[in-house]
Amino acid sequence: MSQHDLIVIGAGPGGYVAAIRAAQLGLNVACIEKEGALGGTCLRVGCIPSKALLESSELYQLASAHLGEYGIKVNGVECDLPGMMQRKDKIVSVLCKGIEGLFRKNKITRYFGHGRIIAQGRVLVEGSPSQEITAKNILIATGSRSAPLPGVEVDGDLIGTSTEALQYPEVPGHLVVIGAGVIGLELGCVWARLGSKVTVLEFLPRILPGMDQEIATEAQKIFSKQGLDFRLGMRVTGARVQNGRCLVESDGQPPIDCDRVLLAVGRIPNTDDLGLEPLNVARNQRGFIVVDRKFQTSIPGLYAIGDAIPGPMLAHKAEEEGLACAECLVGKYGHVNYDAIPGVVYTDPEIASVGKTEEQLQDLGIKYRKGVFPFLANGRAKAIGQTEGRVKMLAHAETDRVLGIHIIGPRAGDLIAEAAMAIEFGASSEDIARTSHAHPTLAEVIKEAAFAVDGRAIHM
Ligand code: NAD
Repeated sequence: MSQHDLIVIGAGPGGYVAAIRAAQLGLNVACIEKEGALGGTCLRVGCIPSKALLESSELYQLASAHLGEYGIKVNGVECDLPGMMQRKDKIVSVLCKGIEGLFRKNKITRYFGHGRIIAQGRVLVEGSPSQEITAKNILIATGSRSAPLPGVEVDGDLIGTSTEALQYPEVPGHLVVIGAGVIGLELGCVWARLGSKVTVLEFLPRILPGMDQEIATEAQKIFSKQGLDFRLGMRVTGARVQNGRCLVESDGQPPIDCDRVLLAVGRIPNTDDLGLEPLNVARNQRGFIVVDRKFQTSIPGLYAIGDAIPGPMLAHKAEEEGLACAECLVGKYGHVNYDAIPGVVYTDPEIASVGKTEEQLQDLGIKYRKGVFPFLANGRAKAIGQTEGRVKMLAHAETDRVLGIHIIGPRAGDLIAEAAMAIEFGASSEDIARTSHAHPTLAEVIKEAAFAVDGRAIHM
């Protein structure tokens, strides 16, 4: 029987990063993965492949519809879907192999199979053959899966989740997306750019729940102009395949006939098939494992991070928790600042945000000042031909401390790093306004938004 200091169950961004950090700190680490490849949902069927397809579809659209605006004439642009898929698959495979290399470098033992906790400190790796391994500490980093919706008959083909939507064999004529959240918008945009008619059905009266309302409203306007057909306030009650077509039903509306359906109504934690019940590991009503500040569950020596515990279901949140948990295990001070975790929607333009939204500040009764600056007034945005969007900065009315920054615009996902840093360091809007930002760059919009907090934006 193999003995380790730490067994990590799950090799997604939370699990593999925790394993590497723990190994760096001198622990003998094992990592169990059931999928036969390292990287988790994010790398294999999530963040990375979707970004590869977003890039291909963006370039296709640029080449087929917009290069003329840059003084470039092109003829005969074609969408080579198999080529795009091959490129995506190659990126994924290279990155998965990269993690194998990192495991070898850090002397982490990896096991392929389903990990099941059979007692405190003991895990059965179910595979062929199955084997039992032991460790003083066990870390659950098993991630999440797409949430089902009652009445929607997912067949893994015409009616599917994000996994299927990353590998459609042809561009669907009409794609219906259920849910106007992050997944629905990112993948809806991919297929709309490649030529699908895309209808997005959303239960709430708005898109992107949880995001700052003003930014979400602007996003909806921009994506509607790009061709996404939003039907808000629609509760989908069923979807099924009939004679090779899909029928989507919702409350009080005639059924919609379409070629494919993407179900994207959230994700649920993978905590139900790990052997937690006999150990009485505390979970909340939604199945998330309850942990303390050091990520320990209700059972000593058993830890959990990432999508398996409450909080935003984001790869980088899981990574931060993995690092912090590993550090706590060896007696160091591991800590995650949940106020400074950015969120990004990789549409075009991108949407990114960190800290509190305006609605949250109002609900909390916190007095704030607000600065808004549009990309339209930024020279670099003009030069690259991407002027849609704005930066909105929210600062405490008395202390001027930055409480939230929300961006919709070109490269928002990269720009948000400065905002996250500002919040992490407790910066004021004045600190950002006084920081020299290179000219001409998109980042100048953040500086201008900081000036705008105080009513003194220069270029507006
Ligand atoms: P989500 O929670 O972001 O959005 C789901 C949407 O479905 C909500 O707007 C909800 O109101 C709607 N909905 C629920 N039931 C419905 C019904 N019956 N009919 C119509 N609409 C309904 O979920 P998601 O987009 O599936 O994403 C899942 C998770 O994965 C999220 O936590 C997200 O943060 C994460 N994720 C993040 C990224 C990123 O950071 N770029 C990318 C992909 C996924």
